[in-house]
Amino acid sequence: MTGSTDAHLARVSAVESLLVAAGRDRRPGSPLNMPLVLASNFVLGTERAYARDDGTPTWEALEEIVGLLEQGQSVAFASGMAAIAAVFDQLHAGSRIALPDDCYQGVAGLAESGRQKGLWSVIRLAGDDTDGWIRACADCDLIWLESPSNPMLVVADLRSICSAPRKPSALLAVDNTFATSLNQQPLDLGADISMQSATKFIGGHSDLLAGMVTVRRDDIFASLRHSRELRGATPGALESFLAVRGARTLALRLERAQANAMILAERLSLHPGVECARYPGLTTHPTHAIARAQMKGFGTIISFDVRGGAVAADAVCSRLRLVQHATSLGAVESTIERRASIPGQEHLPPSLLRLSVGIENVEDIWGDLDAALRGRG
Ligand SMILES: *Cc1c(COP(=O)(O)O)cnc(C)c1O
Repeated sequence: MTGSTDAHLARVSAVESLLVAAGRDRRPGSPLNMPLVLASNFVLGTERAYARDDGTPTWEALEEIVGLLEQGQSVAFASGMAAIAAVFDQLHAGSRIALPDDCYQGVAGLAESGRQKGLWSVIRLAGDDTDGWIRACADCDLIWLESPSNPMLVVADLRSICSAPRKPSALLAVDNTFATSLNQQPLDLGADISMQSATKFIGGHSDLLAGMVTVRRDDIFASLRHSRELRGATPGALESFLAVRGARTLALRLERAQANAMILAERLSLHPGVECARYPGLTTHPTHAIARAQMKGFGTIISFDVRGGAVAADAVCSRLRLVQHATSLGAVESTIERRASIPGQEHLPPSLLRLSVGIENVEDIWGDLDAALRGRG
């Protein structure tokens, strides 16, 4: 317990304020910021004995913030993948899993490794195949959605899919990493589980790994905690501290980066060096209407195909000066990567670059992209 009781948050209604106000110990004399608690064990006599089982105040500060953002209960994990693995840990032998055909490669890899071991079967569906997902809800045990998807930015119709009848024991989970809790609320749309990699937007500075799962059902919450305890998938102390630090500025960072992304997506879609630009905020984006109906903002990730194929796209990356040639996303700095160059991602368009737009001045980012696309080093 962090001590930031309901009373202290009673006048807080907006997410921007919650990000700043939650996860603090409000008792007189407490440090204003939740300290970096380095402890594996605690003096016996309360419910907190051992960190792996019972958590630490630093992890709980992070869990409180994300839980309040999505009006549920959050469990923090060592990484986004550890969070995803804990959800898969809920499945019984012989389960059926539905997965988008465009999704984070780690979740596809985890599903495939379990399939090869005979633990479960996997079907893959296009993110925008709403009817296919509705059918999958009727007979799958885990319906795993990712919206917008990585890196094709397909937006799934979460409201329709989540309201389709599903088996009583089935779990419907949404990877909310690209959207963030500020832009999209999967639990409000009817999902059982909202997962996000805190490595990305919550951390926001490319300096930590952490993952979050948020739920509203007590039984799933207890079971996820139990999985974390048994698998030892606990978040790091410093990482949790840094994630809380990151969360304080999430709303501001997202607001700026998202405004930048809209401007850049429009300009990229008109650039002679670009074949096609994908961004859910573009009215020409195939799933724009769904994005508009279920998201508050369209995020900070753009993917675009460079004219001239993989060689031309690699050359663009090598000519950039401000935008960092690096993987990952959601940080203050803009990063770019040719996704098909990653082992296992060869099925993607060869010249697709995934751009994570940062908080730099938009004209500086544009100047860098435009120069690189025009062949200037
Ligand atoms: C990065 C990412 C993950 C995995 O998170 P890690 O913190 O790297 O383990 C899962 N889903 C999406 C969409 C991601 O971008």
